[in-house]
Amino acid sequence: MGKEDEAVGVMKCSWVHGPIIVGGGPSGLAVAACLSDKGIPSLVLEKSDRIASLWQYRSYDRLNLHLPKQFCELPLMSFPKHFPKYPTKHQFISYLESYASNFEIKPKFNQSVLSAEFDSGSGVWRVRTTDTEYISKWLISATGENAEPVIPEISGVEKFHGAVIHTSVYKSGSDFKNQKVLVVGCGNSGMEVSLDLCSHNASPHMVVRNTVHVLPREMCGISTFGIAMSLMKWLPLRIVDKVLLLAAYFSLGNTEQLGLHRPKIGPIELKNATGKTPVLDVGALSRIKSGHIKVMAGVREITRKGAKFIDGQEKEFDSIILATGYKSNVPSWLKNCDLFTEEGMPRTPFPNGWKLGANGLYTVGFTRRGLLGTASDAVKIASDIGEKWRTMKDPRNSCNSQIILRRAC
Ligand SMILES: Cc1cc2nc3c(=O)[nH]c(=O)nc-3n(C[C@H](O)[C@H](O)[C@H](O)COP(=O)(O)OP(=O)(O)OC[C@H]3O[C@@H](n4cnc5c(N)ncnc54)[C@H](O)[C@@H]3O)c2cc1C
Repeated sequence: MGKEDEAVGVMKCSWVHGPIIVGGGPSGLAVAACLSDKGIPSLVLEKSDRIASLWQYRSYDRLNLHLPKQFCELPLMSFPKHFPKYPTKHQFISYLESYASNFEIKPKFNQSVLSAEFDSGSGVWRVRTTDTEYISKWLISATGENAEPVIPEISGVEKFHGAVIHTSVYKSGSDFKNQKVLVVGCGNSGMEVSLDLCSHNASPHMVVRNTVHVLPREMCGISTFGIAMSLMKWLPLRIVDKVLLLAAYFSLGNTEQLGLHRPKIGPIELKNATGKTPVLDVGALSRIKSGHIKVMAGVREITRKGAKFIDGQEKEFDSIILATGYKSNVPSWLKNCDLFTEEGMPRTPFPNGWKLGANGLYTVGFTRRGLLGTASDAVKIASDIGEKWRTMKDPRNSCNSQIILRRAC
């Protein structure tokens, strides 16, 4: 930023040469790399003190990528050859660190974006952190679909005698040895945390309030996700769902008998319509069958010592783990913008949600399609900004940027 920084009171004002990217997770890094590949500089603002805070701070020790590595690579750089099919979270983090250094991406850390607003008078985005106002023609939201934990209101929870934590702070079952633990939620995290608790001699009781699709992670050694992707090239989605459900039945048996009721619509159709991800089983199902993980109906009320359930049962617990998912935080910082829903997702659905409106606003990683969606968005954004960039000589020196900076600060 250098010479174009101007101190105004305590708030610095800084013209950014290139787009501002909010968020230094996999999506922010991917789009910064694609821009850099086209010779376009960018500024990544990250609220944490390191890249990929979700993976570094808010994930459990036993986490591996849920999908095979070929579906999780960022653009322009493959995973190292020696990585296993499902890299561990530590391997994924080391890949992201090499990725950032390879493309010379140096995010500004501890820069939580508090607000971002389009200034229609000057035709620029004004992005504020606690100490600086950054100004650019382009704003790229890369804060993720999983920015904040969802903490549901559960009647009586304040009375509970033990620990109540969200999976974002769960590290390992070793902290819950020999405990009776209530796990609220049965998505991928709920299932995996319950499995982890079993491995540490704890006794998990998993609350399954809604319907859920459980699929085997692999079928005959081939990833279920990979099979679904291939079939979708040739067959209508509903048929693909039927094939998956039939294969799941043969490989896992009837999950209804275990208290895991399937939704009426198929797994891929449901994912596309609502974003609800099917559970890819990594071993929890056999622990449910063996009785090590108990499936419980919805919670009616938490008591001082445990919980009362909607089917009339009452049990005592030592701890409660909320595997209740995450949500986007875009509505908290993107001001006066109706291009996002109240849930913080782009109103324009996939595959066109990467560019919103005509004011230089982009989103990466809001596709409900994981890292594959991130890669696709990043490439499209860089190509779109690249075209505009080529038509500008040197935006830093343009008289326009100097005027805007003076006017805006
Ligand atoms: C347990 C778990 C396992 C997963 N496994 C897979 C998998 O195997 N394959 C797959 O494709 N996907 C997986 N996902 C989905 C996964 O979240 C994403 O694919 C990936 O992390 C998305 O990257 P992102 O950069 O979009 O979001 P994030 O990883 O959430 O990164 C967003 C970044 O933005 C920062 N940020 C947020 N708000 C602000 C702000 N206001 N100002 C500045 N910075 C901000 C955050 O600190 C964070 O570093 C998994 C998710 C979870 C929770």
